[in-house]
Amino acid sequence: ENGEALTAANVDASVRSMPLCMSQLHAGLKRDHKLKHQGRLQFGLFLKGAGMSMEEHTMFFQREFTKIMTGEQFNKQYSYSIRHMHGKEGKRASYTPYNCMKIVMGSPPGGGEHHGCPYKHYDEENLSALLGKLHVGSVAEREAILKLKRDGNAQLACAKHFEVVHPGASGVESVSLDGVGNHPNAWFTASRKYYE
Ligand code: SF4
Repeated sequence: ENGEALTAANVDASVRSMPLCMSQLHAGLKRDHKLKHQGRLQFGLFLKGAGMSMEEHTMFFQREFTKIMTGEQFNKQYSYSIRHMHGKEGKRASYTPYNCMKIVMGSPPGGGEHHGCPYKHYDEENLSALLGKLHVGSVAEREAILKLKRDGNAQLACAKHFEVVHPGASGVESVSLDGVGNHPNAWFTASRKYYE
């Protein structure tokens, strides 16, 4: 893994390097102090893929969830599935972080859910408002992103978002743009490299 390991203590400061799907899950977790099943999987496996250990993953989720439940409830209902994600329970399979194709083609988020790909699953109005709120580029740059979304190119819209918020990234030798728009972890790694 590149740079500093992702921990419960530094994850909040790493949000600027997360693609929109993951920053939305992070925001949902912070706001609701919980995530539903699909969101826990999508975000949890992403964090694992970004190098967060099972202990840090548990600590981070526990810190949020126990704002609305007891530690005992958290342990009973959620810590098993976190250990499972890290291959420490059940058949000890190690689960792979989802790539964009899987997220884009997966089930859209329902009420109270934050998983999915915003470029695919949000309507244009919501996406536009979100990009504005997050100060992603200029009006013209946001329009270029929205046009790709409108044309059904969710992953290209996401790659365009990366380009807009990391100016000059293609000229930085340590930054690999290869998987940006294909895998959330590639977006994250490229962004962290860019800011190094
Ligand atoms: Fe996440 Fe991939 Fe969608 Fe980007 S294209 S928001 S990385 S699922």
